[in-house]
Amino acid sequence: MVSRRRFIQIMGKGAALAAAGIGLLRLPAKASSEESGSTIRVYSVKEGGYVTMDKVNRSKEEWRNILTPDQFYVLREQGTERAFTGELHDNKKPGTYVCAGCGLDLFSSEHKYDSGTGWPSFWQPIAPENIGTEADWSLFMRRTEVHCARCGGHQGHVFEDGPPPTGLRYCINSVSLRFVAGEPGGKKG
Ligand code: FE
Repeated sequence: MVSRRRFIQIMGKGAALAAAGIGLLRLPAKASSEESGSTIRVYSVKEGGYVTMDKVNRSKEEWRNILTPDQFYVLREQGTERAFTGELHDNKKPGTYVCAGCGLDLFSSEHKYDSGTGWPSFWQPIAPENIGTEADWSLFMRRTEVHCARCGGHQGHVFEDGPPPTGLRYCINSVSLRFVAGEPGGKKG
């Protein structure tokens, strides 16, 4: 039997643990606000190598003021533009496709191909470090979401039905990209 006094002691401990738990739960939020000044190491076409740059961390309201409504819908609300409507879908010029949100180099004209899907398609990113991926369970199937590593802006999805040498298809919204004409580049090897 647990005595009444012992019971109160246990309850007291529980309350203390609960309080500690609340404290712990608050930690990630604090860490993420401190992270707003953090940096990432990414590949730069201009520099021809890896550089360290600041992450871009803006509120939804800030993004709403910077982006067009279409860009905001895709980049910040995980939207998808209608197939065959994107300005860059048929673009075959040499250059670099950068994030429309923060300007980070994401894809190269050297890796672009016509997938027939109606969205700009690439078989690899500029460098693995320049993009992030996340499991996406919307639309009742598992897809792999692709976003900009610097600002977190949604770009599209990656599928495993792409051409050689990777067999990957990065299916990217045109509106979340900005095209910079010039010598194409990307991580070699
Ligand atoms: Fe970005």
